[in-house]
Amino acid sequence: MMDPTAVLHIDLAAIAANWRALAARAAPGAVAGVVKANAYGLGAARVAPALHAAGCRHFFVAHLAEGIALRAALGAGPMIAVLNGFAPGADQDAGLVPVLNSLGDVLAHAAAGRSANWAQPALLHLDTGMARLGLDAGEQARLAADRSLLAGLDLLYVMSHLACADEPDHPLNGEQAARFARACAVLPRLKRSFANSSGLFLGADYASDLARPGCALYGINPTPGAANPMRPVIRLEAPILQIRDIPAGASVGYGASFMAARPSRIATIAVGYADGYLRSLSGRGVAAYRDMILPMVGRVSMDLITLDVTDAPGIAPGETVQLIGGAAPSPDDLAARAGTIGYEILTSLGDRYRRDYRAG
Ligand SMILES: *Cc1c(COP(=O)(O)O)cnc(C)c1O
Repeated sequence: MMDPTAVLHIDLAAIAANWRALAARAAPGAVAGVVKANAYGLGAARVAPALHAAGCRHFFVAHLAEGIALRAALGAGPMIAVLNGFAPGADQDAGLVPVLNSLGDVLAHAAAGRSANWAQPALLHLDTGMARLGLDAGEQARLAADRSLLAGLDLLYVMSHLACADEPDHPLNGEQAARFARACAVLPRLKRSFANSSGLFLGADYASDLARPGCALYGINPTPGAANPMRPVIRLEAPILQIRDIPAGASVGYGASFMAARPSRIATIAVGYADGYLRSLSGRGVAAYRDMILPMVGRVSMDLITLDVTDAPGIAPGETVQLIGGAAPSPDDLAARAGTIGYEILTSLGDRYRRDYRAG
């Protein structure tokens, strides 16, 4: 029996090229690599060293544990900031930089820095329109009124995060830029970190000393509605396990949701919703065989999907079909079919694939 395992091809050279393209766009500002959630599901232990080799010296993760693992992968040197923050000293000497998301965070890390007689490196996060993390307007005013609260801290950057950067005409973009500029003006002079991937395409008001792109590095379109300026990064392909002939009127899969209108040939593939091929793609997904598009039929199961290959004469078990990338839908296209965003397609990719990394 053949190996039915699907193969996820991850192009580290394309990720590096995407980082270089964003770095050129952001210059003279620097560009970080956001590698939270295991580099959006693509494998931080492989992606981050490829970014570092391309010249990236600043990294962002979401969780402390991600930061500790990343420090082991990267070694000493690059900045690793933890977006969700951590308690003073909790980074186990990994040299991680906490993002301070509230006045309480500021006070705790400043006190720890003063008692150690050391300026604790940190990033200060100001909320300008997300109402999620970061000092709110009242906390920002308290800080501006009493800058001594910052004693004990070595603030590497002051940052804020855009809510609507993927909608260039949204009025909140300009409001956030103005709020961020006003808040920075009453604080000590600090380097700024503002744009995410889409923010880098909004214009000069959004440039800063350190951009924080994530999705664009991984080939997601940072300019929805316009052509994707980034290089594609992933391809998912899988062999056909079985092909069977069914008569008109026969159903396929759970719930008998697909009923063959004609005598049909059905191919089964060992990829399912447990692998991140979302169940909402039932009846909506498509695969590619050579240059032919094959409709997915029936429901997505946990471990299997079924394709209608009636119109692909000669296709045989063991042959490979493309599920994402190449002639198959991009992560963004698949997301549109599933009613979600490309980010969720990437971060859902399961760990049952054989992962094939093309060197950076
Ligand atoms: C996830 C995240 C980013 C990266 O956003 P993309 O849209 O993937 O470029 C940047 N900054 C913060 C605070 C984030 O949470």
